[in-house]
Amino acid sequence: MIMKMLKERFIIKNNYNHMKAFLKILGSLILLLIILLILWCNSNMKDRNPGYKADLKIKGGTPGTLSAGFAALPVTPQVPDRWTDENNNAKYEPDKGETFTDGNANGVFDPVWIAGFGNGRAANGIHDDLWARTMVIDNGSTRLAIVVLDAIGFMNDDIIDVRKRIPAEAGVTYTIITSTHTHEGPDLLGLWGKYPFKSGVNKEYMEYVKVQAARSVAEAVKNMRPARFEISEDITGAIPMVKDTRKPEVFDSGLRFIKAVDRDNGKILGSLLSWADHCETLWSDNLLITSDFPHYFRESVEKGVYRGDSLIISGIGGVAVYINGAIGGLMTTHQSLAIKDPFSGKEIKEPSFEKAGAQGKQLALLALNAMNTPAEVIDTASISLIVRTLILPVDNVLFRLGTAAGVINSGTTGWMKMRSELAVFNIGPLSFATLPGEAYPEIINGGVEAPAGRDFGNQPVEVPPVRDMMTGKYKFIFCLANDEIGYIIPKSQWDVKAPYTYERTDSPYGEENSLGPETAPILHRNLKEMLFELAQ
Ligand SMILES: [Zn+2]
Repeated sequence: MIMKMLKERFIIKNNYNHMKAFLKILGSLILLLIILLILWCNSNMKDRNPGYKADLKIKGGTPGTLSAGFAALPVTPQVPDRWTDENNNAKYEPDKGETFTDGNANGVFDPVWIAGFGNGRAANGIHDDLWARTMVIDNGSTRLAIVVLDAIGFMNDDIIDVRKRIPAEAGVTYTIITSTHTHEGPDLLGLWGKYPFKSGVNKEYMEYVKVQAARSVAEAVKNMRPARFEISEDITGAIPMVKDTRKPEVFDSGLRFIKAVDRDNGKILGSLLSWADHCETLWSDNLLITSDFPHYFRESVEKGVYRGDSLIISGIGGVAVYINGAIGGLMTTHQSLAIKDPFSGKEIKEPSFEKAGAQGKQLALLALNAMNTPAEVIDTASISLIVRTLILPVDNVLFRLGTAAGVINSGTTGWMKMRSELAVFNIGPLSFATLPGEAYPEIINGGVEAPAGRDFGNQPVEVPPVRDMMTGKYKFIFCLANDEIGYIIPKSQWDVKAPYTYERTDSPYGEENSLGPETAPILHRNLKEMLFELAQ
């Protein structure tokens, strides 16, 4: 009996000791994991460019002779062509490592994830090339480079990386890099991988884009010629081609153009085409890489507008550069909005290349028509410029998690803060303002509201409208410029909590893709100060 009791006690004690040792090891392992996790998050959130500031202040001075240079370099990804299943249907989510048949060749499928609608959209072929298109403007004392990428967006750290690669000999005072926001190109932000929270960015492709963007600047500088700038506008013609999917209904649908003509021989060097619409006319079912309607717009301005094989109106030649404006809140050629074929008059509603083509051709017809009678022609100008690096708070929990997990490959500057950038500049009668994300048009053109049901009790903060504060005669807005921080939403329209604005029964789309409610007030306040200073 005693022996049995002793034995049982020994077993219990022994088990207890085992348990104690096990818990100790488990505790240490958990602690180690937590430390590793913190170190990992910390390295993901490390400032990639400590101390970096793009800040510049250049006063206009005496007008100098204008020059312009253009370049277009492809940034098309490598995509196995027309990846289909046994029934010849486009395959949606092939796995990495799966073999494919591309024409006669066999290979291993390395998916290119298309950004913009949802996760797990592997590209299935190339419809048209993506580009880094650059216009360089110079007046003898200041040289500006404006680069547009056919991309969903490009973050400030990546932009700084491109700037560092531009050769010093190019002599560029300031480089602006914007994205068209195509929803039919590779992920460059990290949000559209195979699964949520799995980055869709291919590092080699990102590197290729950076190399090409920097090269496009150097090439545009080499192509520089003394130029005459023909400025034209069509403020109303393109209104029927955009839908506003969130109240209040305010658009940024004016078309603005600069045609740069060689002063010596009259040859067209290129053109800058500015409008505001999400490049997503092809919508979410398309799996072919394309720049969407800008492809047809640019090509028609350069080479002419065709009906089938017949040339209807000649193009102007040169390199056309398309830049997007205030596309937030949300400017889109929605799948419910029909686009008219400019020749047959056929209404095309269903998203398709035919629809994107009709839209691009319509835009080109408006552009070519406006360019025939320029509102003003200049060949000398003074250039004044103010650039500010800003630190913005990241309030969005998903963005915080994404950054900590390295899905959004962007460093932070301080606890949950990120670096971004604003610029304002005047070139003679031309005024420009750049914003780092998708601004709601009411911030730019006026009409910010304070509807019942809003989350904060404030009255409109982002007043007066940015365009009203710009002093030039022709006012260009470049959005997604030098960053892509998502939607820039007026604070008095911020609406996450019930009751909702405009008698909605649910929260509107937008806030989940915004840094937070303070973004718009901070950007507007800075723009106001900068535009005031620029006008002095
Ligand atoms: Zn967008």
